[in-house]
Amino acid sequence: MIRSCLVCSIPLPENGVLEHLPYGYRFAFDPERGRLWVVCSNCRRWSLVPLEDRWEAIEELERAARDRGRLLSQTDTIALVKVGPLDVVRVGNASRTEEAWWRYGRELVRRRTSYGRLTVAAGAASAAVVAGGWATGGISFFGAWWLWSQAPDGIKRGARWLRFGSAAWRGRERCAKCGYEFTDVSFKERQNLVLLPDSEQPGNVVLGARCPRCQDLAEGGLRLKDRAAERTIQRVLAYHHFDGASEQRVRSATRLIEEAGSARDLTRILLRDGRRMGDLQRTGAIALEISANESSEQRALEMEVAELEAVWRKEEELAAIIDDELTDVPLLETFRRRVLKKG
Ligand SMILES: [Zn+2]
Ligand SMILES: [Zn+2]
Repeated sequence: MIRSCLVCSIPLPENGVLEHLPYGYRFAFDPERGRLWVVCSNCRRWSLVPLEDRWEAIEELERAARDRGRLLSQTDTIALVKVGPLDVVRVGNASRTEEAWWRYGRELVRRRTSYGRLTVAAGAASAAVVAGGWATGGISFFGAWWLWSQAPDGIKRGARWLRFGSAAWRGRERCAKCGYEFTDVSFKERQNLVLLPDSEQPGNVVLGARCPRCQDLAEGGLRLKDRAAERTIQRVLAYHHFDGASEQRVRSATRLIEEAGSARDLTRILLRDGRRMGDLQRTGAIALEISANESSEQRALEMEVAELEAVWRKEEELAAIIDDELTDVPLLETFRRRVLKKG
């Protein structure tokens, strides 16, 4: 049993999750070759677990990753899976346990619940004002009715403003045609914003707006790209869906993503030759918000998983030497068969 890092000797913290791998929070394993490493959170180096300790541990890890794991990112060779507080690198093709974009879908459903609470509170507060005002003759029946119907919206607007402010983007960009200087994009104009596929970087989205001076959109107007576009689109969609979405809506939206193939494919299909934000249907817009968040998070994870793959290649070379030198081949074969049979 490895209790401390074999490279820097720092003791590994107890995880309280795995019976056969009680120490450490990051593991890498290869069920096919029967390898198992504990990854040190201090020096980030991989310690190869002695063969006699691997048997049950790999089985337990495989089971945990399959039943409770959340797939974060994967390449053809390795997958990064989150199992509770543990980060697990699994070598080989992972079964797609749960799609990562579900995380953001849940966030939308949660938003709806808290928004519901907000409007109930607002309704109760305005009911008190209406009842009080009407009883004392302070407001007319019509005034009371109007206040009653407007109150939740007023609260929504206030809460939304507190969270987002009034501008989705601030900066300095010039219209390529007439030189008009754009300094902000307000949320109020969001329906007229245009989303276009980036011709230079496939998968990326460009955010466009018509120029208020020369009225051009095709050759002039505002053009936000890369991170600026990504951040602004995320903000505009989150603002637009401030009251969240029902679980059913999120399910339809995620089904759209599923049918498209991936978050990026959905964005590409949805925006084919550019789309006015106001023309997007609700399910499409929700799917786009999920995709926008998924894509930016995914990019960071893809970099991490690519680095991990490079580390794994080095460690695997070493492990192959250690395993073959220290054990006779029949034992290793028995071990492989045992793991594979259950995997
Ligand atoms: Zn270490
Ligand atoms: Zn212009």
